[in-house]
Amino acid sequence: MYKVYGIVGYPVSHSLSPVMHNLAFRELGIKAVYGAFPVKPENLSLAIAGVRALGISGLSVTIPHKVEVMKYLDEVDYVAKEIGAVNTIINYDGKLFGTNTDWIGVIKSFEEAGIDLTGKRVVVLGAGGASLAIVYAMVKSGVKEVVIYNRTYEKAREVASRFGILAYKWEDLSTAYGDILINATSVGLKSFDSPVSKEIVSRFSVVMDSVYLPVETKLLSLAREENKIIIDGLKMLLYQGVEQFRLWTGINPPLDKMRDALYQEVLKMEAEFGLRKTDKTS
Ligand code: NAP
Repeated sequence: MYKVYGIVGYPVSHSLSPVMHNLAFRELGIKAVYGAFPVKPENLSLAIAGVRALGISGLSVTIPHKVEVMKYLDEVDYVAKEIGAVNTIINYDGKLFGTNTDWIGVIKSFEEAGIDLTGKRVVVLGAGGASLAIVYAMVKSGVKEVVIYNRTYEKAREVASRFGILAYKWEDLSTAYGDILINATSVGLKSFDSPVSKEIVSRFSVVMDSVYLPVETKLLSLAREENKIIIDGLKMLLYQGVEQFRLWTGINPPLDKMRDALYQEVLKMEAEFGLRKTDKTS
């Protein structure tokens, strides 16, 4: 019998998760399929009831459901509780268990780039779902200090008090400095905008973007021009997916093949959205 997995979010039509998980199932000869389920916020409880009724084996959870979904699950682990968001659901014989692998995606991305986070000063831009997992990953990695800037200052303060870090106003970004700069806002998604200027980028050694469409965002291209180490958002997506796959199946998925499939798919999407580098006007 085939098992069914999938992603719930709204919208999910451009999700890259089906590409990597279906490839891994095929490569490993596992009888399973992974679909994309667009679920409006008002239908989330029905969707989770559907997961139970249909016996869906596992789900990825994305915007806007990562926080709300927690109340419909039988158990949420301490990591997801500390982060305040669930991105992975595992169906254990009808009991739905929630956890979070986004933060592991962040840690593995830095490991792959050979960056030791110990003792670093980290600036995080944004205070939404991605920011929560990123800040958690940084705090757990022994960094010296994490500071957060967000357009809505109140949200920055909420995240800061949750993790015991510092919050700054978006208007004060011009004075930002540190070792590592991470964009966790949606600025740069399907556009050529950067949340900060090249001059600010120049004050950091490593720049990571959680946005992955385009793969090389405007922020990362500014960092490349300044000869900084850059980490694109597809790595976080890949590694959080790898961890999900392990949790669902108990098997290590084919990492390099998943990575190739993701990068190929995103290149197609860049063309579809007119985001190819050759199309850049600025
Ligand atoms: P979210 O919860 O909706 O948060 C969006 C964040 O962006 C908020 O902090 C928001 O500030 C800020 N923002 C939006 N427009 C802005 C603007 N024009 N100027 C300044 N700040 C702005 O979304 P999310 O889940 O955190 O996702 C953020 C990005 O990360 C998305 O592009 C998403 O695709 C990406 N992401 C990537 C991964 C991955 O695996 N690579 C995983 C999750 C998310 P306010 O609070 O002021 O609204």
